[in-house]
Amino acid sequence: MNYALVTGASRGIGRAIAIELSKSGYAVLINYLAGRQAAEETKSMIEQQGGVADLLQFNVADKQEVDTALTAWTDTHPNDFIAVLVNNAGIRQDALMIFMQDEQWSNVIDTNLNSVFHVTRKVLKDMLSKRFGRIINVVSLSGLKGLPGQTNYSAAKAGVIGATKALAQEVAARKVTVNAVAPGFIDTDMTKDIDENTLKTMIPVGRFGKPEEVAAVVAFLTSEHAAYITGEVISVNGGLYT
Ligand code: NAP
Repeated sequence: MNYALVTGASRGIGRAIAIELSKSGYAVLINYLAGRQAAEETKSMIEQQGGVADLLQFNVADKQEVDTALTAWTDTHPNDFIAVLVNNAGIRQDALMIFMQDEQWSNVIDTNLNSVFHVTRKVLKDMLSKRFGRIINVVSLSGLKGLPGQTNYSAAKAGVIGATKALAQEVAARKVTVNAVAPGFIDTDMTKDIDENTLKTMIPVGRFGKPEEVAAVVAFLTSEHAAYITGEVISVNGGLYT
């Protein structure tokens, strides 16, 4: 069976991506950190629409946990294949650099950037030998233009954009594509402390985006129609660039 592994799929954008990829015919591996109940809800939503989903808990920031969980999954699923990887799990811990603590820097770099290396490296070998794969990294407008108060997060997301472009060139000949999707402000738990009414005047479309609007682009990038798109960053931001 062909699986899509979506990190951070218990809530928000990751949940919407998991549901959309299930509609595309993939069995879905729902990764999460601590939100087991929310992850179970994502699983039920997929099953209600006739899809297949399993939970796979691990901390994307912890190399050992990633290795252990994915090795165990591969050993128990010798006939299955992770054909799609969506590196979506992410956190923000904003502070002006002058006030930023060591942990705020390292937590955000570990969860948003180092995670991409840990998880991608584990699934890539199989994609290369099967000569098919779709890797989509969820980055951010913050990684494209930089946002004040987010030097940690902007650095992490910009790092993922660089890795996306480099890896795309390494693996293109094996029909593995690697792209990034860069949301602007999307209505999820991550943005619940941000006042939409104040910010929406700056967004040309005049509102925050929905997780489903990001998921639709991810699903397109996994499709056969997107076989000639690689190393690309696609913004989903309502026209908000500067
Ligand atoms: P969210 O609602 O806060 O959900 C975050 C998800 O990531 C949850 O499923 C959470 O799992 C998981 N997660 C966090 N740390 C993890 C870890 N160490 N290991 C495994 N899973 C972990 O966030 P979101 O808004 O959907 O954001 C999803 C992605 O989009 C992130 O990469 C974010 O940076 C990016 N993004 C979001 C926006 C926005 O406006 N919302 C804009 C640009 C980019 P638990 O439930 O277990 O905690």
